[in-house]
Amino acid sequence: MEADVLIVGAGPAGLACALRLAQRAAAQPGVLNLENVSVLEKGRDVGAHLLSGAVMDPRALRELLPDFEQEAPLDSPVASDAVYFLTRGAQVRFPVTPPFLHNPGNYIVSLNRLGKWLGRKVEEAGITIFTETAGMEVLYDEGGNVRGVRTDDKGLDRDRRPKENYQPGSDLHAKVTVFAEGTRGSLAKQLWADKGLARQSNPMTYALGVKELWELPKGRFEAGGVAHTMGWPLAADQYGGGWIYGMRDSLVSLGLVVGLDYRNPLFDPHDAFQRWKTHPFLRRLLEGGRLIKYGAKTIPEGGYFSMPELSTGGALMVGDSGGFLNSQRLKGIHLAIKSGMLAADTVFDALAAGDCSAQRLAACRASFEASWAHEELWKVRNFHQAFEHGLVRGIFHAGLQMVTGGRGLYARYGAEAGHRRYVKLTERPRGQPSRVAPDGKLTFDKVTDVYHSAAKHDEDQPPHLLIHDTDICNNRCVREFGNPCQYFCPAAVYEMVEKDGRRQIHLNPSNCVHCKTCDIMDPYEIITWVPPEGGGGPNYENL
Ligand code: SF4
Repeated sequence: MEADVLIVGAGPAGLACALRLAQRAAAQPGVLNLENVSVLEKGRDVGAHLLSGAVMDPRALRELLPDFEQEAPLDSPVASDAVYFLTRGAQVRFPVTPPFLHNPGNYIVSLNRLGKWLGRKVEEAGITIFTETAGMEVLYDEGGNVRGVRTDDKGLDRDRRPKENYQPGSDLHAKVTVFAEGTRGSLAKQLWADKGLARQSNPMTYALGVKELWELPKGRFEAGGVAHTMGWPLAADQYGGGWIYGMRDSLVSLGLVVGLDYRNPLFDPHDAFQRWKTHPFLRRLLEGGRLIKYGAKTIPEGGYFSMPELSTGGALMVGDSGGFLNSQRLKGIHLAIKSGMLAADTVFDALAAGDCSAQRLAACRASFEASWAHEELWKVRNFHQAFEHGLVRGIFHAGLQMVTGGRGLYARYGAEAGHRRYVKLTERPRGQPSRVAPDGKLTFDKVTDVYHSAAKHDEDQPPHLLIHDTDICNNRCVREFGNPCQYFCPAAVYEMVEKDGRRQIHLNPSNCVHCKTCDIMDPYEIITWVPPEGGGGPNYENL
């Protein structure tokens, strides 16, 4: 298939890009036929793989759709803000909420519902969204420019033999391909490597957010209430914190974000989240409530200096795939939408000029630099890196950065990729850390939580978690790091089981919620996450 524009990923960035293209095409007829624009989405529906906290700054959405407040599925305007520091048994409320965590004018949203709504708008505008279709491979022309993507084969069995319903994937060619795959997109990762797009950048650092949606007794937590927590159960050298966002109908979104640059290879983010809920402050809040939904997602927290180049010949990078996230404000949706709009303007102008060369697409960078998105990210350019050496030094550096416009002590703080920061088992106290014993009311094991994500994959399909050398898992990792995959995966996909008299790696891929933590945090970088057959994965609702 030949298209003018191919957008890979129907998240806020990809959908904003599509909508903006439609707006530009309507305003300047004759440049772009919207039948030649396609969006690919690997989930079974638009929104099925979208999850966030989320408190949304509406700035970008207002630019895209000025009347959004009349019809967007906004849950609640933010009514109050609070920040707490937790110790093991107590909480202290900050007398003043730090300005960057103030949320007047912002909205609590379900990203999943917002995505579905944006998807409908895109389709109403005349752009086709191909759901259950995953991009598997970046295609290049002879000159090395991106030419499009190859989609997934359907109906292959676990040994890659065709089943009765076999349908080969397609090569989708486009003048410009926009990568909007979300965090650690498998094609974006390939493109970053093939084209050296992150050569000049700090290594990208990530965080994992583990989330549950609860229904609470009426009146327990106000819709629009926003609370963040710091401290317990995370150690002082760990980056992260909790959130509690009040939604309509007595629902509450809660979760824990953990920087994927912790040192203890036996640390388990899902277990930490369950432990967090046992704090008296959370226990009181959740008592009498019930778990409704579960999900997990990684976010790119590296900031400005970790962003890749945003374009190359034939391609642009938007949203989480381009590192558009403000980790100080804990927000990325507005930046994703803005990056999609900037990409759309660049692509439309290139098509209008009949020039989609690498030089022309590089204009995207200049538009970004002239935008408020750049201004916002530049002010927090060193924020995450300030916490490389723990909370206390982090607060000092972050404070200094606030009074120096984001600079701090150094013009550019360095960073280290998270998977390089593990200490070996021999360098940490012996034995397993204590784990929460799930009670099935307040705390849950991973398998129960996965059930609430509605994750589903056809069991008889080629593996989508590629371990390049299981000998390393079974012999070396077991001794050096204790197989951290068992702990960092929030969906119990990786297990070490007794087989033939020794412990061996075993996978449960159908549990996978597509968070990509394994691709990021394996200490030997031998796990590659690739999309399963389109349609597989979680089926998020209201997350
Ligand atoms: Fe996330 Fe990997 Fe586990 Fe899937 S297998 S849920 S991508 S860590």
